[in-house]
Amino acid sequence: MSTFNTCLSSQIFTTTSRVALRPISTARLSSSASTPPILIRNEPVFAAPAPIIHPLLKEDMGKDSYEEAIAGLQKLLSENGELGPVAAAKIEEITAELKTADGSAGISSESVERLKTGFVTFKKEKYEKNPALYGELAKGQSPTYMVFACSDSRVCPSHVLDLQPGEAFVVRNVANLVPPFDKTKFSGVGAAVEYAVLHLKVKEIVVIGHSACGGIKGVMSFPYDGSTSTDFIEDWVSIALPAKNKTLADCGKDTPFGDQCATCEKEAVNVSLGNLLSYPFVREGLVKKTLALKGGHYDFVKGSFELWALNFSLSPSLSV
Ligand SMILES: [Zn+2]
Repeated sequence: MSTFNTCLSSQIFTTTSRVALRPISTARLSSSASTPPILIRNEPVFAAPAPIIHPLLKEDMGKDSYEEAIAGLQKLLSENGELGPVAAAKIEEITAELKTADGSAGISSESVERLKTGFVTFKKEKYEKNPALYGELAKGQSPTYMVFACSDSRVCPSHVLDLQPGEAFVVRNVANLVPPFDKTKFSGVGAAVEYAVLHLKVKEIVVIGHSACGGIKGVMSFPYDGSTSTDFIEDWVSIALPAKNKTLADCGKDTPFGDQCATCEKEAVNVSLGNLLSYPFVREGLVKKTLALKGGHYDFVKGSFELWALNFSLSPSLSV
């Protein structure tokens, strides 16, 4: 039986180049609390999977079939005038749907277009230009890193660290937190860590915090006095409560709230690194030196990235 002593050493990398801040995408679900939304509709937003692989450009999309359809309808109505009212009702319905920006599944056509053009660009500029890479990835993955990053749309680790497909097994959640080992409460994160360490055999687990993190601001703000104002957020970010407590103990009373949050962002990373030690397969990897843990902090205001190592030592158990 062994215990772990941890200490943290820090290294700062600062880039002088400007960091491009680029929102990724947003999604909306609209439903009343009592009525579950209908999730499955047999109406492809942009038909999958074939057009995803071979997307059609807008100007080519259904040009001929539209004219043919109109001609066919006119022919049908000239032959059978009784269908007129039915056709009129149908056309009215289709017109109304097309006029509505979110005529299909609540997603505006502009945002769907953004996804389509995004994939077209990716396929043309990356997928088709790197057949060796994507050919290898088709066979399997062997990532060097497991990365925990925040769900914040500004901090995508693949962008920030220029990680290529196949390099990092990524978990993103609010405030980039790693909960302690718990088979029932946090099985989602546990499954990811287990898969990354035991099956993919990643060499590094990197937990990356970031500036102006809403989740960390949350844990610093919520009273945790028994009252709750959210369904999930307070409970989830409470994983970082030890970081909040350390921040409050270390920072003076007069420290501005923003500075306290900035300190807590890094302390929360350290809490997550400590929590990783509660996973037996992580401990085993550290002991065998097949695995290492790193903490990171990305400041998108300053354009800097800080990386630090988790050093640990085994100390003999005092139990007899
Ligand atoms: Zn965040």
